[in-house]
Amino acid sequence: MTAAEILKAMCAGAPGNLEKAMTALSKVSGMSADAIEQLSVDAYNRAVGDLKDYDCPICKNKGFVAYLDDNKEYCQRRCSCMAKRRSIREAKASGMGALLNKTFENFETAQDHQKILYRTAQEFVSSVTHGDICWMMACGQSGSGKTHICAAACNELLKDGFSVRYMSWIAESGRLRRLKTDDEAYNELYFQLQDPMVLYIDDLFKHSGDGKPSDAEIGLAFDVLNHRINAEKITVISTEYSIEMLRSMDEAITGRIVEMCKGNVVRIKPDINKNYRFKEFR
Ligand SMILES: [Zn+2]
Repeated sequence: MTAAEILKAMCAGAPGNLEKAMTALSKVSGMSADAIEQLSVDAYNRAVGDLKDYDCPICKNKGFVAYLDDNKEYCQRRCSCMAKRRSIREAKASGMGALLNKTFENFETAQDHQKILYRTAQEFVSSVTHGDICWMMACGQSGSGKTHICAAACNELLKDGFSVRYMSWIAESGRLRRLKTDDEAYNELYFQLQDPMVLYIDDLFKHSGDGKPSDAEIGLAFDVLNHRINAEKITVISTEYSIEMLRSMDEAITGRIVEMCKGNVVRIKPDINKNYRFKEFR
């Protein structure tokens, strides 16, 4: 075999070819088998792959790293970046979008209610990452940081490998309005709400303008929330509705939701000073 043929056979990838080529190379070059194994490890680790999302200096975007085991045999292991790639894909699929930038670090805690939100969300994340199935709910005054802190909690869970899905109630209001007359819209939304392991419902029952939630919408929400309790799936809820208002819609299920939260409920009383959107007018 010529050197060119040897190289070609090594690149062909079939294990049989590689072995033959390496034996030939060893004869031609006089190199030891170990040294040749090391050559193929180096050659593999130098090659550049085509994985996207993240530029990995370790595997050069192939997802695997070659090495010699204790018997000096050629082996490959998954690169540590694969977990990172997975969480990047999960983050994109989560629908969190711009909310992916919301973290505990950039959450303001100047006011008392913000401190409570912060502490509650941290306790919630800690419980979930320790294997507890519990929920979190932030109710009350709009613009008080509910969305930020709920998003921060969900982003922490994403980082910990949980699959998370975000649902903005207000953005879905068009589909929600059609629920009564459109079975397909109802079924699609029902599945989206009941399926994910962690679901974040942002601004539950909020409508553009002063629209009120329809009976069909209320029915769907409580149906799904009840299903999620029974299926032991985690839910994070932010809403301007108070617990008393939710209770007036469905007493029994609201009671079960509060129970699922195991104390991770923040009730922010209406107060214009708590609304960051009006800060400059104070
Ligand atoms: Zn890598």
